[in-house]
Amino acid sequence: MRIAVLSGKGGTGKTFVSVNLAVAANNACYVDCDVETPNGRLFLDDGSECAVRKTTVLSPMFDKDACTGCRSCVDFCAFGALALVGGTPLLFDEVCHSCGGCRMVCNYSAISEQPRQIGQTESSMRKGLHVLSGRMDVGQSSGIPVIQDLLAQANNPLIIIDCPPGTACSAAECARHADYCLIVAEPSLYGTHNLQMVHEMIIALDKPCGVVMNKVVDLENPAEQYCAQQGLEVFTRIPFDRDLARNLAEAKVMVEEDEKYSLLFHSLLERVQGQVMA
Ligand code: SF4
Ligand code: SF4
Repeated sequence: MRIAVLSGKGGTGKTFVSVNLAVAANNACYVDCDVETPNGRLFLDDGSECAVRKTTVLSPMFDKDACTGCRSCVDFCAFGALALVGGTPLLFDEVCHSCGGCRMVCNYSAISEQPRQIGQTESSMRKGLHVLSGRMDVGQSSGIPVIQDLLAQANNPLIIIDCPPGTACSAAECARHADYCLIVAEPSLYGTHNLQMVHEMIIALDKPCGVVMNKVVDLENPAEQYCAQQGLEVFTRIPFDRDLARNLAEAKVMVEEDEKYSLLFHSLLERVQGQVMA
């Protein structure tokens, strides 16, 4: 079972929810797919041995002797990753999406492919929890190959995916692989707008979803109103709590620190699993 934990922006508590759900579960895998800013390992790194592997993609390589300078590859590339300079294609590899199209359209066999590193994944165990995290190398345009590499390594019965914030391709790629999407929302107008964006993305992907309301205060909550209008189930409401913020700043795992949070996350996990089984 794959549960994707999403949010419309950073800072809503998505990693807090993902990490604590994963620790609350048995025989689970926590996958930090927020590959631009992976923070989950800060909570889960207990010094255990960590296996690092490179994530590579294929990049075109040009044979100057075989190339006639016909421009077919340059004209084909929809990403603007090629320019003809001095009669030979020049590759801007940061924007190349490794689609292989240029190689296919070259009639002179002047293009081959070579692996290029764009990031890395890290795999370790923490008290029976498989912890996977990935990061993109600086300057890369897409983290999706790193996300795909991570998800291919996750094979536990329960997989908690800590998704990139927002609704870009990388977040959609994570949600696409999930059985259930859990949106972490904040009780503000700003938070409601972000909740709506993520909800619309999940509807487009035709995935079931529910909400965790975080940092709840005793004031009017437009995010709750949105959920009610949309028929979105709010599984739990986590109150704004300065002690919680202090503990999170010290990278503490709350299900291990405080019985109240242990009960909250075990109950949340049970309810989400119930939704998937239903
Ligand atoms: S399509 Fe082939 S021959 Fe034409 S410019 Fe590109 S590499 Fe050179
Ligand atoms: S592999 Fe695709 S994206 Fe990269 S240069 Fe060739 S056509 Fe462009």
